[in-house]
Amino acid sequence: MNNFIIESLMILFVMSSVTVRVNLICSSNNMPSLYTLQLDGHFNFDHVEHAARDFGNRYHFLPVAVLHPESVSDIAALIKHVWDIGPRSELTVAARGHGHSLQGQSQAHRGVVVNMESLKRPIDIHVNFTGNFSYADVSGGELWINILHESLNYGLAPKSWTDYLHLTVGGTLSNAGISGQAFRHGPQISNVHQLQVVTGKGEIVTCSEKQNHDLFHGVLGGLGQFGIITRARILLEAAPARVKWIRVLYSDFTAFTRDQEHLISIQNTFNYVEGFVIINRTGLLNNWRSYSFSPKDPVQASQFKSDGRTLYCLELAKYFNLDKTDIINQEVDKLLSQLSYIPSTLFVSQVTYTDFLDRVHVSEMKLRSKHLWDIPHPWINLLIPKSKIHTFARGVFGNIVTATSNGPILIYPVNRSKWDNRTSVVTPEEHIFYLVAFLTSAVPSSTGTDGLEHMLIQNKRILDFCETANLGVKQYLPHYTKQEEWQSHFGSHWEKFVQRKSTYDPLAILAPGQRIFQKGNIYPC
Ligand code: FAD
Repeated sequence: MNNFIIESLMILFVMSSVTVRVNLICSSNNMPSLYTLQLDGHFNFDHVEHAARDFGNRYHFLPVAVLHPESVSDIAALIKHVWDIGPRSELTVAARGHGHSLQGQSQAHRGVVVNMESLKRPIDIHVNFTGNFSYADVSGGELWINILHESLNYGLAPKSWTDYLHLTVGGTLSNAGISGQAFRHGPQISNVHQLQVVTGKGEIVTCSEKQNHDLFHGVLGGLGQFGIITRARILLEAAPARVKWIRVLYSDFTAFTRDQEHLISIQNTFNYVEGFVIINRTGLLNNWRSYSFSPKDPVQASQFKSDGRTLYCLELAKYFNLDKTDIINQEVDKLLSQLSYIPSTLFVSQVTYTDFLDRVHVSEMKLRSKHLWDIPHPWINLLIPKSKIHTFARGVFGNIVTATSNGPILIYPVNRSKWDNRTSVVTPEEHIFYLVAFLTSAVPSSTGTDGLEHMLIQNKRILDFCETANLGVKQYLPHYTKQEEWQSHFGSHWEKFVQRKSTYDPLAILAPGQRIFQKGNIYPC
């Protein structure tokens, strides 16, 4: 065969496979082909399996295509295209940040997944020390760790964080973004000044407190339901150089929570307050989040025995610059003197600000090297009113949960006043509520207590207990399968949520993996 025949055959082959695929998409979704879209980026129709995976590693929904956008208009063109087809097609669109969802929230069964990390743009830092209004303009697909590195070049950093920084801006802002700084600055959604969003009609809209404020508030904590965040303006503050990182232990839950609540209520306090529960464990301070901590009094610490008690570890951090070391030491001593932890259990570490913020990544690397990262993670995260935290602890710690060997249980309070009621996120109404996070990892194919089935049963027992005891708990990173459950989750905010959906994504094209609305019909699911 000469070259001409070979080339003609190859073109025919390529064209026929394209035609087959176009027909498949047309017939299954009754729509003109995605191939017709003029894009700066590209679709991938073949290698889509990774978009059917997430950190939870339990739900796997294959999309028909993955869009790798190179511009915001690529995303707008895709959504506008699906919008123009109307309700007769089942095609949906899911933004995928870093895919760290737990139950398929960033997936789109037979829809299109938008790989937000392809949209990366340079991080734009605006410095304004005098007016205390420095900010970073970043892409919705940007990882928080990159924002940290870039802003540190200017001596700045975002104020509010998550415990793990290899998450995207759009992904955490769609939930809330909570960590030990939230008591002071509010969650990440309280530290955003402006967003650029592509709505479910394919419109590109800039929004803020002052401009298109309903969309702005709706998108924050909106579980991806009202638009895809393509750009965000994140508030920055002066970054410290070092962190004094402290852990102390309690065996008395009342003393533990009293001290946590005291620390988040006073003015000159720590910069970060968290805590975790230790049940039936040895090697007390060496869990997945650990660095090396030195006991303040090594002799006494070596004599400390847990004796099988449930223990509560208060975790604190004070930021400082080296020229202020003496003052900070005095401040820390003064604060610690107000607490009633077990005296021999004071452990201290001093690290750089970056090492402190990026601490979970160290554990990720260790787990990855042992092939223990890409395994099922049946996590549950709960927001519990302060008035019910003792009932919860009595019912769950040591009773339903009898060991913390499968992953840490975080527990820390935040101040409700730092959360904005106008956003979509729902929390308990009390002035103080707790985040309690069961961060379990299941050993694949195990049928024992370290297996997935055991952990799912345990999760159900925890949720049932909250329900039966009427604790007024809200799920964080919520997961429900029925619309009645979503309605009950949102409570009095449900009507507003549905109204925003009908305004910004009336065909329910966006974020189908949250399973709140069904394409083409936003009312009964
Ligand atoms: P994805 O999982 O990809 O997306 C999450 C949801 O947001 C999906 O519905 C998706 O469609 C939507 N979405 C994604 N990008 C956009 C966008 N640009 N615009 C609109 N919608 C979008 N959370 C905390 O609050 N605090 C923590 O301390 C914390 N620690 C964590 C530690 C680990 C190890 C992990 C795996 C998760 C942690 N999380 C924490 C949870 C995290 O906030 C969620 O997993 C969140 O989903 C962010 O992940 P992602 O960026 O990969 O987003």
